[in-house]
Amino acid sequence: MKIFIYDEQGGEAVNFQELAHYLKEKGARVEVRGGFFSRFAHSLDDVAKSLAGMRIFDPTRKIAQEEPLYGEVKYEQRVLSSKAKAGGVLYDGIALQSYMRSLLPRQEVSLEKLHLVITSRMIATFDEGDRRYHLRAIVLGYPAIISTSGIVEAPAKPREFYLQRRLLGEDPLAEAQLKQKFGQKILDYGDVRMGDVIKGYALQALFYQLFGEAFCEDKRCRLYNAHWQEELIEAQFSQPELCPRHESMLKQWKEKRR
Ligand SMILES: [Zn+2]
Repeated sequence: MKIFIYDEQGGEAVNFQELAHYLKEKGARVEVRGGFFSRFAHSLDDVAKSLAGMRIFDPTRKIAQEEPLYGEVKYEQRVLSSKAKAGGVLYDGIALQSYMRSLLPRQEVSLEKLHLVITSRMIATFDEGDRRYHLRAIVLGYPAIISTSGIVEAPAKPREFYLQRRLLGEDPLAEAQLKQKFGQKILDYGDVRMGDVIKGYALQALFYQLFGEAFCEDKRCRLYNAHWQEELIEAQFSQPELCPRHESMLKQWKEKRR
């Protein structure tokens, strides 16, 4: 198994070498590549147009991927050329994934190759059950996409946090103080723990590709599908890092490869 890691971060600091080192320890070969789009797309203008067509404007309506507006395409061009940060825009994660897959050359597509894209873009997937979009930290599949802003925004913060924030109203300074108060219990942008949390999601992507299962019921296993940030932090920072079953699956796979 070879894992290719792509940086679609747009400046946000993620230690890709550390992530690569971690995945190598698990038994995979790893190559850190640069941007996914700059590597595989023929023209960044096409990418900008495609991305603009994946925007979610109404969380209760599935996107139709209509022809985007000029200004939306221009915005994406600026983000792609690093002249602007991708902030506040929500993209359909499944549309993004299938677009990325369409860009992968045939020789890059194999069960022995896992493509892992780390993006700062905010992604959501549409749930047919409650007919609305939900933010995602990861979209499993080919390629697997991990969203750093999704890690911050998708798992819910403690109820008490929302309660207190509602009392404060729209005051950014008060919100910053509130985040400080909750400190270790919540994850924020630029959090030093982000790198370790990404490792857990990368493991989910690896398990999904190797065994067709990504999640675990055990709250202390790194594969636990956390819906709350407190759960996420517990799952990612407990020792041992995997439950006995997942630990042995990974060990057997690693030994078979020797
Ligand atoms: Zn487990």
